[in-house]
Amino acid sequence: MEYQQIIESIYQTIQPYAKEGQQATYIPELAKVDPDQFGMCIHTIYGETAAIEKADTRFSIQSISKVFSLAICLSIKGDELWTRIGKEPSGTAFNSLLHLELEKGKPRNPFLNSGAIVMADILLSELANPEEDFLRFVRAVAGNDTIDYNREVAASERENGYLNAAIANLLKYHNNIDNDIESVLKFYFLMCSVEMSCRELSLAFLAFANHRRKFDYADIQLTSSQVKRINAIMQTCGFYDEAGEFSYLVGLPGKSGVGGGIVAIYPLLYSVAVWSPRLNAKGNSVMGLKALELFTSETKESIF
Ligand code: GLU
Repeated sequence: MEYQQIIESIYQTIQPYAKEGQQATYIPELAKVDPDQFGMCIHTIYGETAAIEKADTRFSIQSISKVFSLAICLSIKGDELWTRIGKEPSGTAFNSLLHLELEKGKPRNPFLNSGAIVMADILLSELANPEEDFLRFVRAVAGNDTIDYNREVAASERENGYLNAAIANLLKYHNNIDNDIESVLKFYFLMCSVEMSCRELSLAFLAFANHRRKFDYADIQLTSSQVKRINAIMQTCGFYDEAGEFSYLVGLPGKSGVGGGIVAIYPLLYSVAVWSPRLNAKGNSVMGLKALELFTSETKESIF
């Protein structure tokens, strides 16, 4: 498949959308990013790769980090994880408190902020050195030791993270947080602040695309079934309250973040990452969504 040619032509086609949407500003550090950037990179499990534009520029992965947290939590807790977090799509915004109150502090799924805050609590309890161990895992799965947190972004989010603090308090009230709220939120924001490029993200997610290869990175092991199940959750819950639309238009499991990144996988074939900071009203990258929709249309490869 001529992936390079395909993504170059897609980039031209999506130019009319270049000024649509707005970058996230509720995290003040993210408001400083130049919104008019775009990068895309694909890796196949057979070693083919294609990349365009800012594929090597690092950006804030934000909620994409929730996939890494889920991998570690599932490897440590196994199915017991689902006693504290559900695995149903929510149809509500990523930072919503709505279901959390009705469902007595059990988050609908691990990719909501509430679910990820519970995972941060689990990781704080279970990992010997949470900050180091999380980063060690991300570096190992991406095969790159220079990947790091951006502590300014994490601090900037902490200073303005009123909604996430409300979520953490509600979780604590319902006994779904063991550690103190301040440490849990601090660690949650830190995980969101990891910076990676499209090339690094698409390489990292090959580990999820290829569930037949042994998943064993920095002492985190998953079975083939666990990897497939993470992919299932990406399919149903990976795009905020737009997971149905993403499934309909793009048709791949994936995860987006408010930094403008999206990573998606085609099981047993490829992993693709795209980045552009301007977001639509639901929090997904406008150019990223368009690029992936065209990508799966033009390659005519579909899991359906
Ligand atoms: N750190 C962000 C928040 O909690 C992550 C949001 C996202 O990327 O969906 O609001």
